[in-house]
Amino acid sequence: MRRPIIAGNWKMNKTSSEGVELTKAIVGLGKGLDGVDIVIAPPFTSLAAVCSTVKDSPIKVAGQNIFWEKSGAYTGEISADMLGEIGCSHVIIGHSERRQFFGETDEMVNKKISAAFSAGLLPIVCVGETLEQREAGRAKDIIKGQIVNGFKGFDNSAASKIIIAYEPIWAIGTGKTATSDEANEMHAYIRSLLTDLFGAALAKKINILYGGSVKPSNSNELLSKEDIDGVLVGGASLDADSFISIAKSALNR
Ligand code: PEP
Repeated sequence: MRRPIIAGNWKMNKTSSEGVELTKAIVGLGKGLDGVDIVIAPPFTSLAAVCSTVKDSPIKVAGQNIFWEKSGAYTGEISADMLGEIGCSHVIIGHSERRQFFGETDEMVNKKISAAFSAGLLPIVCVGETLEQREAGRAKDIIKGQIVNGFKGFDNSAASKIIIAYEPIWAIGTGKTATSDEANEMHAYIRSLLTDLFGAALAKKINILYGGSVKPSNSNELLSKEDIDGVLVGGASLDADSFISIAKSALNR
């Protein structure tokens, strides 16, 4: 059985002091939630303070992005080693907002995943189609391209550390959610792609999270589906009560 992962992507929200307050509330409310991994992804400026706030708790911390080089003249970028050293265990890679606003391609995603592995970080790799692509019947082709190109060149030992987040772009921050059946169908398809790439035994172990307007009112239904192994939450992760209530729905699986 895959252990569910509930990840919160704070995006460009919360100053460092606000982030510490939110983290303290999450740590407090999250006490005793043993059957689930909770990961929070604050902005870079809050990471060090949030990492020290979660130190004695099971809550894990992710960066929202990394650059693929280890160091050097790359103004404004952050390396995987830098995140690892301050206590991050995870990193979000290829979020649709990075692909849309910062021109990230599958090739760049592939290099960032490699960099994450080199630093011992677990990558949460985001894939998803636009509404236009879905309506044109191209959703599965788009996801296949993102998975096949994003995961090119990884052996099974590396692939076992990948976490995938399926986030249909039309559902992110819009209040529209894929139905649990639509989401589960895509998750099962992603698992079939992983089976082709890495074999059935490994594909069964990889966590596939759903993201896109997840909130306490729909998380139970989404997380009841066989291939939905957790959620990546944006807006609702900025409120400790909502975020932890979503995390609790993973315990009913
Ligand atoms: C996200 O940013 O990954 C996301 C899913 O956002 P929201 O939950 O706000 O739709």
